[in-house]
Amino acid sequence: MPKVLVVGAGGREHAIVRALGRSPQAPELHAAPGNPGIAADAQVHDVAADDVPGLVALARELAVDLVAVGPEVPLVAGLVDALTDAGIAAFGPTAAAAALEGSKAFAKEVMIAAGVPTAGHATVTTVADGMAAIDRYPVVLKYDGLAAGKGVVIAQDEGEARATLVDMLEDHQFGDAAVVVEEFLDGEELSLLAICDGERAIPLAPAQDYKRIFDGDEGPNTGGMGSYSPVVGVDGERAARISADVHQPIVDELARRGTPFRGILYAGLMLTADGIKVLEYNTRFGDPETQAVLPRLRSDLLALMGASATGSLADVVLDWDPRWAVTLVLASAGYPASASKGDVVEGLDGLADGVELTHAGTARDGDGRIVTAGGRVLNLTVLGDSPAAARDGAYAAAEGVRFAGRQLRRDIAQRAVERFG
Ligand code: AMP
Repeated sequence: MPKVLVVGAGGREHAIVRALGRSPQAPELHAAPGNPGIAADAQVHDVAADDVPGLVALARELAVDLVAVGPEVPLVAGLVDALTDAGIAAFGPTAAAAALEGSKAFAKEVMIAAGVPTAGHATVTTVADGMAAIDRYPVVLKYDGLAAGKGVVIAQDEGEARATLVDMLEDHQFGDAAVVVEEFLDGEELSLLAICDGERAIPLAPAQDYKRIFDGDEGPNTGGMGSYSPVVGVDGERAARISADVHQPIVDELARRGTPFRGILYAGLMLTADGIKVLEYNTRFGDPETQAVLPRLRSDLLALMGASATGSLADVVLDWDPRWAVTLVLASAGYPASASKGDVVEGLDGLADGVELTHAGTARDGDGRIVTAGGRVLNLTVLGDSPAAARDGAYAAAEGVRFAGRQLRRDIAQRAVERFG
């Protein structure tokens, strides 16, 4: 029986644990640090997701066959490199390849070298150079390093642009780095992920996520308030064509540089009037897209992760459940500006069959009750034969899960429902 260690503590990692649990290889599942939901599906270990030496020691002690890394921070910090050095197979990119997510400036440089369509940009290190690089508004300003999704500002005018550049470059809000000044693109967003083995990129089912806190894409950005899969207008053939333009050239370019990309390459795309352009790359599964995508995967995720790690994805054809999946995020009071902790969650025992519940920011209080412990608290995913069936099932499930100040968007998958019913 293979042993697998999943690194991370969110809804994404819970969805990964669940999908690994469906593997016909019946793996023994471990997670670090996990959360109370993951603890029901895997043995959890109290090692932080960014503790590289601690995770290597844990993987050694458990003698795992594979480590699957969920979040970006340990990838950028070199967890996969350290595991590989220790002779432990790992799913995810090395630090050199994860720099595609760790540095926006590096990502732009690789995109240009690879001939991938993207917004025009300049990388700057001073406010004066930044202002000089702007020729129209709105303009997009991106902090160069990891900023937990908070490093992108769309500035509407000169005042906002200057203030943002001062914030990012002079006040060192996130640390010492450069800023990418980027052309603003208009259009609909799409995420397309591919699993890569250093040579090949195989696209996963497309998903759409909802980044703003309020219905109708109003209010501030969040980590994501919901998602659905597949996406209207992006069938397997179109996904393969897009992937050939946005994933494979990057995999080829990094292989050429001697830093092959293995793991998940996540392309954040804008469907513009001028065609598809890449907004960003992430180097891991998206959250909450993963919670909608993995329940549709019929192929053995464990076998796929192993093949990605060992360069043997050739001839792999992914098998998907044709049904629609809708994922709702239940967020705590105050999110995204803050996160209310310690609110007791009720109704988790009464969920209908077929509702996939994943935990994100939860904890157990002194009495063993599940309480809120982060901004995004729980995810509910339901599959249905139509977008409306999946959506209605997910909202019906959400009705039963209550906590003080619960926030929930009401328009997840609305576009798909309007199109297909
Ligand atoms: P990123 O982290 O680069 O994907 O940026 C986060 C979000 O900012 C994206 O999902 C888009 O909504 C928005 N964004 C990023 N780059 C651009 C751009 N060039 N034009 C318009 N919106 C953008």
